[in-house]
Amino acid sequence: MPTAYEPVIGLEIHAQLKTASKAFCACPTTFGAKPNVNTCPICLGHPGTLPVLNANLVTFAVRMGLATHCSIRPVSTFARKNYFYADLPKGYQISQYEDPICYQGFVEIEQEDETTKRIGITRIHMEEDSGKSIHDLDIDTLVDLNRAGVPLIEIVSEPDIRSAREAYLYLQQLRQILIYLDICDGNMEEGSLRCDANVSVRPVGTEPFGTKTEVKNLNSFRNVEKAIEYEIARQIEVLEAGGSVVQQTMMWDAGTQSTKVMRSKEMAHDYRYFPEPDLPPVEVSEAWVGELGKSLPELGLDKKRRFRSQYGLPAYDAGILVDDVELAHYYEQAVKGLKNPSNDTFKQVSNWMMTEILRIMGERKIGVSEVGLSPLQLASLVDVVADGTISNKTAKEIFPDLVGTERLAGEIVEERGLVQVSDVGALRAIVSEIVSANPDNVQKYREGKTKLLGFFVGQVLKATGGSANPNVATDLMREALDGQPAE
Ligand SMILES: [Zn+2]
Repeated sequence: MPTAYEPVIGLEIHAQLKTASKAFCACPTTFGAKPNVNTCPICLGHPGTLPVLNANLVTFAVRMGLATHCSIRPVSTFARKNYFYADLPKGYQISQYEDPICYQGFVEIEQEDETTKRIGITRIHMEEDSGKSIHDLDIDTLVDLNRAGVPLIEIVSEPDIRSAREAYLYLQQLRQILIYLDICDGNMEEGSLRCDANVSVRPVGTEPFGTKTEVKNLNSFRNVEKAIEYEIARQIEVLEAGGSVVQQTMMWDAGTQSTKVMRSKEMAHDYRYFPEPDLPPVEVSEAWVGELGKSLPELGLDKKRRFRSQYGLPAYDAGILVDDVELAHYYEQAVKGLKNPSNDTFKQVSNWMMTEILRIMGERKIGVSEVGLSPLQLASLVDVVADGTISNKTAKEIFPDLVGTERLAGEIVEERGLVQVSDVGALRAIVSEIVSANPDNVQKYREGKTKLLGFFVGQVLKATGGSANPNVATDLMREALDGQPAE
């Protein structure tokens, strides 16, 4: 019987923080500036300069720690991590080593079937980014030090992840928390969020971990999932063939969809960590941490659960709406603006957002605030359908006319005379005219071709120029056709 293997995965995530200035100097952190413009003697590592800690780096790190249920260390220190890179002018990176500011937390992930799992957080520490080497030019290797000294937090998970899918969900959850806290823009393509994965496999039912490899260069959600899947399969193949996995650093190559060896894995002691003598210990008071805790916003997963219970939304809808905090806010504003609040209209608001509004956002690559439709306008549209003034079909027709204006649906309906006829008396007269005018079809219907009901209702809509309330018309027509016995 073949051995079944189980993957053991831990993620190391670097998040670039949205502070206005760098971690240890006053240089701006703006992305896309001309090369080497955002630099000064401190971040260029000139002799005789001293780093000064950016207080926002500490605030952001603690906020992330609190949002992920970490303990916060009252006193933590910085350390120098020594290595040589062309884009690391000092020859070391200021980081934290033995006493990271946040430790022992967890993040809850929710699977598609709504089962949840906790992924432990080992630590969150503060550090600075290196610069950027640019190799892919004909000229030579170029170095841009704008990024040198930009503040990062590194979030290290416990090896609690058991599949590529779980890794994806965990990363997605962390990204959502960072964005909700407004401390990182979460943009993987621009490198504001970077992910390395430690992957090993072991026979199912055994305790000891297998030898792990570290997979780097995972610059999109898709790549994270694919690279981990690939690496799991590769390791199992090695073991099945009687070989052993070598501990090394791998690089994901999105072009060939495979991992390649980058270098043998370095160990912590290779970096010769030692205490940073130029920065005092970071002290945070219990009272201050308590204040920060109180100021945390409602996070995505809690909001999703509340949307489910408060508005009766399906998990799918709630998940999509809360994934973008602006969209979630928009939804609640629209719901607040409804004149006919009910689970039905709450769902209708969601339907419009998930179809028309997300479509516009996707096509124009914009946020919900730029769509040109206020939450109140959307509520007005849902309301005129809910109270029977217009049909859903008419609503779809006038939707484009609301976008880019400040008009409410009722105004357009009135101006164009779109109010649908729900008056039973008026519709009944039309129904009996149509029944008299189509004796053949009436007979066929009564003989069992009940599909002809659609034809008859269509005739009513036609006769009223599309303004008949289709539900009322259907009821009246069915009554007329079924009510009288066949001759
Ligand atoms: Zn600087």
